[in-house]
Amino acid sequence: MTETTQTGGTQRVAHGGVTHAIVRLPPGLYFVATPIGAARDITLRGLDILASADLLAAEDTRTLRHLMDIHGVALSGRPMVAYHDHSGAAVRPRLLHALAEGKSVAYASEAGTPLVADPGFQLGRAALEAGAAVFAAPGPSAVLAALTVSGLPSDRFLFAGFPPATKAARKTWLSAMKDIQATLIFYESPKRVGQMLIDLVQCLGGERQAAVARELTKRFEEVRRGTLAELAAGFSGQSVKGEIVVLVDRAAAKRAGPEEVAAALRERLVRMRVKEAAAEVAEALGVPRRDVYQMALRLEAEG
Ligand code: SAM
Repeated sequence: MTETTQTGGTQRVAHGGVTHAIVRLPPGLYFVATPIGAARDITLRGLDILASADLLAAEDTRTLRHLMDIHGVALSGRPMVAYHDHSGAAVRPRLLHALAEGKSVAYASEAGTPLVADPGFQLGRAALEAGAAVFAAPGPSAVLAALTVSGLPSDRFLFAGFPPATKAARKTWLSAMKDIQATLIFYESPKRVGQMLIDLVQCLGGERQAAVARELTKRFEEVRRGTLAELAAGFSGQSVKGEIVVLVDRAAAKRAGPEEVAAALRERLVRMRVKEAAAEVAEALGVPRRDVYQMALRLEAEG
């Protein structure tokens, strides 16, 4: 049931326990993140923007219409146009014209956050170059949902998007990421994930911890965790369905050798006490504090 109330200048629409407001949006382009599975993952502000923008644009207009129907957001005669970066040259001028007229334009990609392995970049840049304001209505994205459940370090990560589809190009591309000190995050098609895991083992080694997150926020959500070698073996010969994110831990940091530790200590011992120098070097090089302290005492004694 949909119920509409009016307070002051704001119209509120309650539908299925969720209320959104029809407001006067400042002019500009609004990138609206939409669910990657569970329809109720749309944000309240996302709904407000979809309900209020003068013009709607979508990668897939049917998907956006469906999402708006679920949440009782009426189109109310507003135009909705299909927009894709590759075929966008014809549609972009229309959207830029609306922005130039001081209108609000909301854009949603098929799922998740626009611009993240999805259209939107060309549109956002063109809008900025034309002097329009660009806003984000942040929300779901498979990259962050997968990182959240992976169990892998989240302090630093690299989102690499989809690997190249051909084997040779994929292996060159993956090998270039071998030494990156960050959790690596890839989108991959279910058809190729088995082969991609084999390629990852060949390019990065089988020892690293990794995770394969499938159908996040959906009914058949599944996360498999293990070393790359274990995951490659687990997926071997299996037919896989659904949407997939692959995550790989960074390469283990190389342990600093005794010369490197001694050099770091000597540099500090001229200006610090033994204990402080040892603590700092142990922290910086990831070497056990006790070993560094013993070496610092020896170096101090040698003068
Ligand atoms: N813009 C989207 C985002 O913010 O995540 C990504 C769009 S990209 C075209 C689609 C890819 O995202 C899928 O092939 C899959 O790799 C990943 N993906 C999207 N939804 C997912 C889900 N529910 N579970 C796992 N991966 C998902």
